[in-house]
Amino acid sequence: ARTDVAYFGAGPAPLPTSVLEKGAAAFVNYENSGLGLAEISHRSSTATRILDETKKALISLLNIPDNYEILFLHGGGSGEFSAVVFNMVAVWVEKRRRRAQKEFGDNDEAILLRVKEELNYSLRLDYLVTGSWSLKASQEAAQLLEPLGRNFVNVALDAREANGGKFGTIPPEDTWKLTPADANAGCGSAFVYYCDNETVDGVEFPSFPKSLQPQAGEDERLVVADMSSNFLSRQVDISRFALVFCGAQKNIGITDLTLAIVRKDLLTTMPSPSFLHKVGVWSPPTILNWSVISKNNSLYNTMPIFSIWIAGEVMRRLLASYGDSKVAGQEAVSNAKAETIYRVLDANPEVYQPVNHKSVRSRMNICFRVKDAATEEEFLEGAETRMLQGLKGHRSVGGIRASNYNAVPMANVQKLAEYLSDFARANS
Ligand code: PMP
Repeated sequence: ARTDVAYFGAGPAPLPTSVLEKGAAAFVNYENSGLGLAEISHRSSTATRILDETKKALISLLNIPDNYEILFLHGGGSGEFSAVVFNMVAVWVEKRRRRAQKEFGDNDEAILLRVKEELNYSLRLDYLVTGSWSLKASQEAAQLLEPLGRNFVNVALDAREANGGKFGTIPPEDTWKLTPADANAGCGSAFVYYCDNETVDGVEFPSFPKSLQPQAGEDERLVVADMSSNFLSRQVDISRFALVFCGAQKNIGITDLTLAIVRKDLLTTMPSPSFLHKVGVWSPPTILNWSVISKNNSLYNTMPIFSIWIAGEVMRRLLASYGDSKVAGQEAVSNAKAETIYRVLDANPEVYQPVNHKSVRSRMNICFRVKDAATEEEFLEGAETRMLQGLKGHRSVGGIRASNYNAVPMANVQKLAEYLSDFARANS
């Protein structure tokens, strides 16, 4: 039975049983219509209603301001690694084009020359690399832009450098090498990118980085954040971001759905494809083009309506559980669950070594080592006999990883804490 298993997988991850049961019925026969949700047209009024209701729940949960648009997308978090580059570089080009137009009026040739020059000399994409996923995103940007002739990616922070070649800390902000913000053209770099919670390495930003807020005399920085693995686990002030994105398969729902919350003015700061081509930059592939997706209410092509409905159910359940406190209610529970596990780990340092610096320990992906390789194997085997599953660390880093997503119940966390205690007693 489901209740026998305590699953701590990193994603896909557990979903609330009540949502799955309701989903199983809706998969076969949605609201007695005689059709299942994976069978209906994405152009039907039912589909539009499901989309609208899911958006409404998300807006309410996170108090998303009016000047933001919610997009449902394909391609997972990885798809957004590419989409961010295509869309944000296009926005950067359009801002420069508009500025040049103010200076040169209808002299298209002068405008084009100016933008080309600026692209060659000043385009930068800033990445804060704090773990495997932000590293991947920065590498994707570098390889997409390589044919343009130079390295546009500024790794403003490689957290491994200060930590013996390993991820696990977030060095102080005054050591980051951000592209200086520029007071004329919107921002010095096209964007600053970071991953709020690194799923593989278990590194989570404790809060929004101060140095990404505009200082006196500076223009804003356009901040892009990957929240794939901690979305809806704590409050977020969306107004600080140009874009927040996440794959659904951890805290929101099932795979094959990606969510983005994007500031609306970026959607209208898109140059024409022909201008981009003249400058020497690709226009975004249509399926990754946020502006096109938004104009089509996320129904540019066939969307997985069932997945969007599941996401809506998960969100409505959070709203029902936590009432007016909304995500703050979930945040308190997430924190309490993470503390329960870290407390046992910290109390048994001769057996367990949490891998990360205390100040950046993830509340979602709790990563630790057990004494030595043989004991680690024993630990995993013992966990299996208690039906504690999904605890093996990512293949790239090894060790143990307990993922503590929203739908992991406190009771399962307590079962794990008990096992951690028992195992420590037997092995110290
Ligand atoms: N970002 C983060 C933080 C992730 O954890 C993952 C996947 N685990 C991804 C991006 C990639 O997501 P996807 O598999 O949906 O492409």
